[in-house]
Amino acid sequence: MRTLRLLPLLLVAVSAGAQRPTSPARPVAAQPDVRIGLARDAHIAAALADVSAARIRATDSVLVSFGTRHTMSDTTSETRGIGAARRFLYNELRAYSRDCGGCLRVEYDPHDVQITRFRDRPMARVVNVLAWLPGRDTSRVVVISGHYDSCICSINAADATSDAPGADDDGSGTSAVVELARVMSKRFPKGFDATIVFATVAAEEQGLLGATALARRLHDEGKTVVAAFTDDIIGNVVADDGRVDSTSVRTYAVDSIPSRSGELARYVWGVGALYTPTLAVRPTFRLDRIGRGGDHSPYHRLGDPALRFTERLEDTKRQHLPTDDLSGVNFPYVAQMARLNLATVASLSAAPAPVDSVVARRDRASGGQKWTVNWKAVAGAARYEVLFRATTSPTWTVVYDAGTSTSFLLDEQLDDGWAAVRAVGADGHRSLTTVAATGAPPRAAPATPATRPPGT
Ligand SMILES: [Zn+2]
Repeated sequence: MRTLRLLPLLLVAVSAGAQRPTSPARPVAAQPDVRIGLARDAHIAAALADVSAARIRATDSVLVSFGTRHTMSDTTSETRGIGAARRFLYNELRAYSRDCGGCLRVEYDPHDVQITRFRDRPMARVVNVLAWLPGRDTSRVVVISGHYDSCICSINAADATSDAPGADDDGSGTSAVVELARVMSKRFPKGFDATIVFATVAAEEQGLLGATALARRLHDEGKTVVAAFTDDIIGNVVADDGRVDSTSVRTYAVDSIPSRSGELARYVWGVGALYTPTLAVRPTFRLDRIGRGGDHSPYHRLGDPALRFTERLEDTKRQHLPTDDLSGVNFPYVAQMARLNLATVASLSAAPAPVDSVVARRDRASGGQKWTVNWKAVAGAARYEVLFRATTSPTWTVVYDAGTSTSFLLDEQLDDGWAAVRAVGADGHRSLTTVAATGAPPRAAPATPATRPPGT
């Protein structure tokens, strides 16, 4: 963890009393940390022990047993093809729902989509299988997905009959999501604050078609997507050259400064350090691996915070080939990935909604050294925190307690960094951070027309 030493200090400061909080001259505690002041919840931590590598392996083995799960494969057979696969997923999720007193709402989510990648541009019925764990707020959703379709695209993208085991791509991610639905419905049958969608999606291999249709559906239904995750290719630990890594995971999320997906990446980084410290999170601030894609992308394009989890070491000599079989999947590693998923999804769902309308303005009274940060109150927030980082820092380095106020006088050189605000629930769960827009200071006198161009 050599990189940790390079990170600036995390300073947790205490609010200054009844008046509008301000940054104190001296911080009260300091520690270098990527956890950015997130807190560990004992109930969530306890649930991680329920995640079973053996169950994930059993689910993936059934998926592989259907021979192929190609989007255009057989839909009527009970033993082969994508129809058998989705009925298996549906029945499995329904069984979990029965075990939790009907706490999960399980559904087929069908969409008729044209596959423009194929020469004859066929129409296909693309069917996602979803399990909803409703929270107090059913309009805010956290999506965790894996794609259950497979292909041997490296040989023939349209071959819908030959074996395409897809054990790692993406039987691994699909099985992890199914296991999350089992553990979280058992442990948290009443849900959290936000609603969770456990999504096994289809037609990823033809251009993210199932995920794109689901993302659009959620937006059309007026849902707010708190975060959208995909587990895709999360089980290989051996590279072609023999290198092994089963103790780190890559996350992909755009950080285009400021970026909601970037805030999600920092959140996952912190949650990983808190809950699954033996699985090192390696954030990459990029939508995906170069030339590759995943089911988080449609959400990112709609402006939602979106992130992909993927194995540290890939072996492209197995992906999209008949060799992507169970021997290439390390299930204890997948289980660790699922634990990181669980802690992340539960923490986000338990937290209040992110803060809206965060604006920072240069404070005239301080000669421009300080900044006033304002935001809108959030339902369910017990208090707020203001965070700061230099533009060169990959994560937040200073956390200030702003108390219950919706205004904070920040003693930081915001010209050289970023400020953000997050809501803290009564039980200590933190929302995603919202980066402050930097507005011009309010004009003291009636404005004369601006003659100076912006950016000077
Ligand atoms: Zn995939």
